[in-house]
Amino acid sequence: MLHISNLSKTYPNGVQALKDVTLDIGNGMFGLLGPNGAGKSSLMRTIATLQDADSGTITFDGMDVMKHKTELRKVLGYLPQEFGVYPKISAEEMLHYIARLKGIANDKERKELVKALLEQVNLYNHRGKFLSGYSGGMKQRFGIAQALIGNPKLIIVDEPTAGLDPAERLRFNNLLSEIGENIVIILSTHIVDDVSELCNDMAIIAAGRVVQRGNPEELLRNYEGCIWSKRVAKEEVASYQEQYKLVLSKLSGGQMVILIYSETDPGNGFTSEKATLEDIYFSNIS
Ligand code: ADP
Repeated sequence: MLHISNLSKTYPNGVQALKDVTLDIGNGMFGLLGPNGAGKSSLMRTIATLQDADSGTITFDGMDVMKHKTELRKVLGYLPQEFGVYPKISAEEMLHYIARLKGIANDKERKELVKALLEQVNLYNHRGKFLSGYSGGMKQRFGIAQALIGNPKLIIVDEPTAGLDPAERLRFNNLLSEIGENIVIILSTHIVDDVSELCNDMAIIAAGRVVQRGNPEELLRNYEGCIWSKRVAKEEVASYQEQYKLVLSKLSGGQMVILIYSETDPGNGFTSEKATLEDIYFSNIS
C-alpha cells in the first residue's frame, strides 16, 4: 500500500506543481489522469525518490520513502516519461547491464532473466538490434522490461503511450495488463482511454490538485443522468457556455456537438447521454 499525504511542491521558478496531494493506492493498476502540466511527472518523480517535496509524506508498505530512498529503489520499477538518450547498444546488452546494476551477479540467472523479459515484452527477435534504432513502441516495451528487473513491488509508468500509434498503444497496454495484480502499478497519462481500459482505481489531477478519486465505475455512477448533448451551430457555442456548465464541445461528422453537465433536465432540445470517463475528465480539468 502506498500512502501519499499532503504532498506539496513549488519549483524555484515559483510554479506550484503539487498542492496538498493526498492519495492511498493499493495493489493493482492505478490511473493518474491529468492534462499536460497538471503535476503528474512531479508526483511520479517524488514517489520514485528522484526529487523531494517541500512538505508531506509518502510511505510504502509502512516505510517512509523519503527517509529510505535506497530501500524504496530496491522495490521500484520506473519507466520515466523521457528515457533520454538511446545508446548504440543492443536491448539484450542493456538489460544485462541494468540487471548487473540491480545486483543480479550470477551469469546464468541473469541470462535466463534477460531472455524471459525479452520474450515477455515481445522483443526477443529484436534483441540484437541497437536501442537507438527501435521504434517508439519497441522503446516503451523495452522500458517495461528494464522496469521489471528485480521483481519490483511498485511500478511507475509515466505517460507511456503518449507518442505511440494506435497499434503500438494497444500492444503496450496489453503488456501492462499482464504484469500482475499483486503489486502497485501507477500509470500516469493524459489519455482517458488508457485509464478506462486498464485501471480499476484512479484519480484525476489538475493544476497540482487531486480533483476526483475513485474507481471508474463509481465515478461514472456519480455522473449518471447528468450529461446532456445537443447539436448546435459553431457560433452558438459561446452563448451556451454562458448559460450552461459546458463539459466539452466537439465536432461529430462535421457538426458541432456540445455536452453539458446538469443534474436536472435542461430542456431546450438537450438529450440525455450516458456519461463517459472523458466527460468526467473534461468536467474536472477546466
Ligand atoms: P505533467 O507531468 O502533468 O505534465 P509536470 O509535473 O511535468 O506535469 O509539471 C507540472 C508543472 O510544473 C508545470 O507547470 C511544469 O512546467 C512545472 N515544472 C515541472 N518540472 C519543473 C522544473 N524542474 N522546474 C520548474 N518547473 C517545473
